This record gives sequence, C-alpha cells and structure tokens, in this order.
Amino acid sequence: MFFHVILTTECNSQCRYCFGEALEDVDEDFSDFEVDYSLPRNMSYDVALLDKLCQRDNDCVLTFYGGEPLICVDKIKQIMDNVRAKLFMVQTNGMLLDQLEPEYVNRFHTILVSIDGNEALTDFYRGNGTFKKLISNLKLIERNGFRGELIARMTVMEQTDIYKQVRWLLYNHVFSFSSVHWQLNAGFWKNDFSRRDFKRWSEENYDTGIRKLVRFWVDNMEKKGAVLRLYPFLGMAKSLLSGEEKSLLRCGGGWINYAIQTDGYIIPCPTMWGMKDYYLGHVSTADPSKLEKVHIGEPCTQCDAFNLCGGRCLYAIVTKRWGPEAYAHVCNTVRNLIQAVSGQMPRLEELIKRGKVRLRDFEYMKYNGCEIIP
Ligand code: SF4
Ligand code: SF4
Repeated sequence: MFFHVILTTECNSQCRYCFGEALEDVDEDFSDFEVDYSLPRNMSYDVALLDKLCQRDNDCVLTFYGGEPLICVDKIKQIMDNVRAKLFMVQTNGMLLDQLEPEYVNRFHTILVSIDGNEALTDFYRGNGTFKKLISNLKLIERNGFRGELIARMTVMEQTDIYKQVRWLLYNHVFSFSSVHWQLNAGFWKNDFSRRDFKRWSEENYDTGIRKLVRFWVDNMEKKGAVLRLYPFLGMAKSLLSGEEKSLLRCGGGWINYAIQTDGYIIPCPTMWGMKDYYLGHVSTADPSKLEKVHIGEPCTQCDAFNLCGGRCLYAIVTKRWGPEAYAHVCNTVRNLIQAVSGQMPRLEELIKRGKVRLRDFEYMKYNGCEIIP
C-alpha cells in the first residue's frame, strides 16, 4: 500500500496554479461536502502510530507530501529513523533539498520534484529565482550521492508548449532529467475555466504537441534503442503491450494509494483533505489491507475510454469543479493521448520483435506519484 504522509499544509512557494488560483477562486464553494477547514498545520499524531500502520503492511511505501514537506525536515528524519516502511519517497518543490542531510536524501527511492520546463517557464509559474535554486539543489544532491529516481514533475497549462518543454527537460546543458511526468492544471478549481483559454490551447497546442512527442519518443527508441521515461506514455504503452483489459484509477487514489492528513485521518488522495465524507479510517486503528476502497463513478463508468483511461482523477470527478462541458475538453486530451500511443503500437511491437527495445524497458513502479493520465 502507498501512503502520502501530509506533513504540513504550509508551503514556501506561491505558484500560479495553486496559490494564484486559490486567490482568484475567492468564492470557492464546497457546499455539497462537509469540509474540515481547521486541520492542524503540521502533523499532529505520534510517529509511532505511523510505524504501527506500516507494520501491518509488508509493502508499505511512504511519500512525504505537503504543502511543502521539506519545511518539516526534523519530522522527516524522525519518521525515517523510526518507521519501518519498505520505501520512502518525497514529492517536493525542491527549494529546501539542501536542508536535509545526504544520509537521508540518499535513502529516498524516488524524488518527484516540481519543475515546469526551462528557466523562463518555471519561474513564470513558480516565481523568480525558483529555477536557479532548484537546479543548484539538484546538482548538490547528485554530488552527495543520490542515485534514486529523480522525476521532473511538470504542471502544465496554457503557457506550456509540451513538446518543447519536455524535450528541454530531457536535453539541456544545465541539468538533464531522465524521467518526466506532467499533469494538466484542469478541473481542480471552480471558476477558472471561464477566465482561461483551456479549450483553444488544448486543441491547438497541447494535443498536437502530445502527438509529436509520442512520435519523437518512438523515433528515439528506433535510433538509440532507449525507452525514455516519459510517464504518461510509459504507463499507457505498458498497458497496451501487456494486453491489460481494464485499468483502475491509475494514480491509485482511493484503492491502493491513500493519504494521511495532519490529524491522522486517512483519505483517498491528498487533494481531498478535510472532506469528511471521505474519511476512511485513522492512522491509529486502520489496517491497510482492510481500508475501504473508493472507486470512480459516473460519468467515467459510462465512457468508452474508461478501460484505458481509468478515470483520470477521483477528486475532479467527485467534486465536479468543472462542469460537464468544460471537463469534456479534458477528456478530449485523454482520448488524444490514448490514440497517439495506440497509433504507435505497431512500431513499438516491431521494435520489440527486432530486439531494439525490450518489454522490460517499459516497467516502472506503479503509484509512485505519477498519475499516468495527465
Ligand atoms: S476520458 Fe474522461 S469520462 Fe472518460 S474515463 Fe477518462 S476521465 Fe472519465
Ligand atoms: S489524479 Fe486526482 S485522485 Fe489521483 S492523486 Fe491526483 S488529485 Fe488525487
């Protein structure tokens, strides 16, 4: 089982798609749900309870999450020193990675770090100076011996040229990544669709970019015999290659990947903090193998793309922040991605047959924080 451990609700950044959107969605209304807005700012339960929870599950993977989890370095160390988890991971903006000693950083199996592309784009979304500080921290942890998987986690929206920025992250002279994942900022806020240009951008720029990027991904296999770790393509191709009949929600939210709030209540995913209808247990008493599973419902269950898509996002489907018309544009991007990867399957199969790439090159650790469907 995978658990996001929310260490704090505080963050040291003010990104456009998070802090900025929250400011503009001032009349954000969750009246359909009972929400506890008074959660403790920092993790308030005993670390021993987390250990007890992990002891009930041989495959307990903990991902530190926030807010920004590295604000709580001491708590991270305390947990890594005292909780017998199978693996530790962290999802971070990377600005404080220099504050955690190498003996802890080097124990992370995976670090997912927020970066949106080149310096201009990252700083546009995340604030001036973000890129330089982040890159300097990433170089530092590599110098200090971090050899786990480092995943560039992009948030993408209208200012992003996906083809250009993913390629930049893979090939640049500043700091190249070998693993990249991205997620659309779409369907998470109530009032932003009307003030944004999502429909035009997704059709004219993003979808076209995805089709080009998939072709580039397979061209690269052909030329270099290497499967680049572009997670949305990797996950989809893996399903198609293995003949998987039906994928459950690919992020694992609500059925294999849960989150633990700062007060110890267990919820399906970190974005569902405070939503009391979705409290599935408490860290003090829960048995991971018996946690209730929350599965995605309509409209996904009626959708022709459901078996491959898996439902994209439980939070978005449950809260319906974007109405059906707006959300249909998000689903069009999902269909486009599925078609783009499916369209390359004959080439992929041929490359595998010829031994240019191997099936095992498409393996990855599922539920590692990459949602697969952006
Ligand atoms: S494409 Fe949209 S409606 Fe269909 S399963 Fe995915 S998220 Fe649900
Ligand atoms: S995709 Fe949605 S349900 Fe899954 S982890 Fe992200 S916000 Fe949660």
